[in-house]
Parts: sequence; structure tokens; C-alpha cells
Amino acid sequence: MSCSLQEKERKGIINPIFTCQPAGAQFVGIGIKDCIPLVHGGQGCCMFVRLLFAQHFNENFDIASSSVHESTAVFGGLSQAEEAVITMIGRYPHLRILPIITTCSTETIGDDVDGLVLKLEKRIKKEFPDREVILVPVHTPSYTGSQISGYDNAINDIVTKVAKKGKKNNKINVFTGWVNPGDVKEVKHIFEEMQIEGNFLMDTESFDAPTMPGKDSFAHGSTTVEDLEDSANAKASVVLCKYEGGKAAKTLETKFKVPAVIDSMPIGIKNTDKFLMNLTKLTDRKVPESLAIERGKAIDAIADLAHMFFADKKVAIYGDPDLVLALAEFCIECEMKPVLLLLGDDNKGYAKDTRIEELKNKVDFDMEIITNADLWDLESRIKNKEVELDLIMGHSKGRYVAIDNEIPMVRVGFPTFDRAGLYRNPVIGYNGAIYLAETIANALFSHMEYKHEREWVLNVW
Ligand code: SF4
Repeated sequence: MSCSLQEKERKGIINPIFTCQPAGAQFVGIGIKDCIPLVHGGQGCCMFVRLLFAQHFNENFDIASSSVHESTAVFGGLSQAEEAVITMIGRYPHLRILPIITTCSTETIGDDVDGLVLKLEKRIKKEFPDREVILVPVHTPSYTGSQISGYDNAINDIVTKVAKKGKKNNKINVFTGWVNPGDVKEVKHIFEEMQIEGNFLMDTESFDAPTMPGKDSFAHGSTTVEDLEDSANAKASVVLCKYEGGKAAKTLETKFKVPAVIDSMPIGIKNTDKFLMNLTKLTDRKVPESLAIERGKAIDAIADLAHMFFADKKVAIYGDPDLVLALAEFCIECEMKPVLLLLGDDNKGYAKDTRIEELKNKVDFDMEIITNADLWDLESRIKNKEVELDLIMGHSKGRYVAIDNEIPMVRVGFPTFDRAGLYRNPVIGYNGAIYLAETIANALFSHMEYKHEREWVLNVW
């Protein structure tokens, strides 16, 4: 019985789990109000990412491209980026912040985006004297890292540039990471119950946008420039996803003495308990009865299902590292065996991740954690009978592995485009634990029915 962490041996990637760094930076950008991220690269670097956002959220998002072409490889693309920024400021009077996100091509040709920002700041003062637009260079070459590090770098670059020392406040910064609107809503609900004021970076609850008379056809996040400035004056920061926001929280700690609490993603009972305990320590607030009742309901829901349907079920999980590790802990809480965890990048920090150390010390079954993994790792292990699975958990890009091998699947993470409205449901908190337990159960139940495997049990439990 062991838990091993190893990098995929094969060279190359077949059916990637992640996309590249600029995608993470674009997700950060669309979370800010009065912001349009500018991707400095070929149009595809933003077009395909926008498409994923639209598929996942069923909303449109404004993202611009400097649209570099062949001549850029020879002459550089700074003039296109400069032109793009000036055009955007002229065209969008509401624009207050504009991250300039580099890509593999513009990093390789060596475009000096930091120098361009200095030049543009002078030009904006002259040409738009009544406007204040913050330009943030974000370096996200795609041949290193992934969408995860792209998110982490972008939010760090933005906070580093915008956060400003001012009057201390009682707020807790919440670095949400790449989560769903339902998760942001759930954390806000916990804060409300505990009467804690949060500063949400980024507040993406509004990605679940209502259709209203005269509705803007583009969705955007609700974090304002003022929220970003004020992050320097918060009481503390809590980070939901260590690898997507941890760096920015550390920057605020070092620069402005805002303590950072970077713990497990609050998925499942134990991790949500830890999250609430951290909040009580930071704020002196007590956990109210209402949350104790929610906890009780979650335990009740899990107890109804775990021993009878989940026990010893073997699970493979892939996707964002924070999500995968927290889901693995949730599966263990529910008596399942997460035997295969696939992390889609080669972050060397995984080897020192205390959550992986904990898993190594506690699992009483064989568990493999593969870094730099792809969906072929999952598929080939199934086909070669190296692993037998009862359930797959991950985003929609792995759906054919589940379909072709007739394994039930729970869609979770980003993107999930082959099931309706998943972005609305939380996986975080006690309510998230109920949602996860019941979604897993329903996936298993449907499979039992289609395969005629003990489906009669569902008549009598
Ligand atoms: S890999 Fe490079 S070219 Fe492709 S989308 Fe990412 S940044 Fe753009």
C-alpha cells in the first residue's frame, strides 16, 4: 500500500489536461470590473480561450488581441500592442485597467512590454488627460507552466501594481482561484453567516449573469480597481487555491504585512472545518449555529450514501492541482479510493506540497499521483488494465475516456460544457459536499441502471 508521486515518463502530451499560461491570465482579467485583458500574440491565443469561457459559462466575455502576424516575427509586435491599447482606451470610455498578456510568440521575439507600458503611460496622459487607465504587463510565455501558473502570475502582477497602502480595514481578502460562480457564492454565504466582510479577488459570481431588459451581452467580474487597491489594507488574506492566488497573497504579506493563510481548498467536511477554523482565528468570530446545521446536513447526506454505495469505489481525478487534491481527500472521507490523480503540469512545488505528504502518510491503498500528465495517461492505464476504475472525476475534455470505457463520470473543474449549468453549483463548503456526494451517487445510479448491475437495489434502499 503506497502513494507515489512521479512525473509522466513519456515525452510529449496527448490530449492535454490544461491549456497554456495566457488562459489563466485571461481568466483573472475578466474577473475585474472595467477591465479588458489584451492578449499580445496571435488571435488564436485569445479566440480559443474565449470560446472555452463561452462554452463553460454560456456567456460572452470581452478579451482583445493585438493580432500579431508573420511580419512581427521579424520586426517585433510592440507597435501593434501600442495601437491596440490606444484604440481600446478610445473606444471604451469605462476602461480603467488593462493587463497586457504576453504569449509564446511575443516572449520569444523579445517584445519589451514593460518598456511599452512606460511609454504608453506617458502617451495616455497626453492624449487622454481626463482618463486614468492602469496598464499591467503580465508575462505568460506558454512554453513554461500552464493555465495554473498563468493565473497565479497574472493576479500577482496585478496586485503588485495596484494594491496601495491606505487606511486599515477589517476585511479578509479572498483569493478565489479558478473556481465557479457557485463556489464564490458559497464562500460569500459562509462570510455572511459569520458576519465577516470579504474582499473577493476575483469576484466571479456575476459570470452567472441574469438576462435583464437591456442586458449587456457581455459578462464581467465584479472586483473593482478600488478592491484591488484596498487589498493592501485588509486584516488578512485567505487563499482557496494555493497555486492560483498563493503568490499574490504572499506579496501582500511581504509588502504590506497582510497575513496570508494558504490551506487546502475547502472541499469536503474536514477541509471546510479547517477553513472555518482559520476564519475564526483571523477574525475572532464564532461559527454560527446555521453553519453547524449545514455541516450536519452534509454529514447526513454523505452517511446515507458512503457505506452503501461509495465504499472501496476506485476513482481517477484530473484537473487543477488544488481541486484534485481536495477532491481526493473528499473521496477518502466518503470511503472511496482515489487511486489515480493526474496533474497536468510539471510544477516542481508538488514534491513539497504538504497535502501530498499527508496523502502519502495516510492512504491504505495504492495511489499514483502523476505530474505533467495528460488524458492519454488515464486512457492507456484503463486500456492496459493497469487500473480498474469505478468513477472518473474531471472536466469535460476527458468525457470520451469515460464514454469509450463505460465508466461513470462526474464533471467537475473547467471546462464543463457537456452538462447544463454546472458552473452554478458549488463544490466548496458544506453545501458543496452535499452537491458532490449526491452527484457522485446519481452518476453511479445511472450507470447501475444502464448496465443492469444491481439496479434493483435502488428500489429498496
Ligand atoms: S501555446 Fe502559444 S500560440 Fe498557442 S495559444 Fe498558447 S500562447 Fe498562443
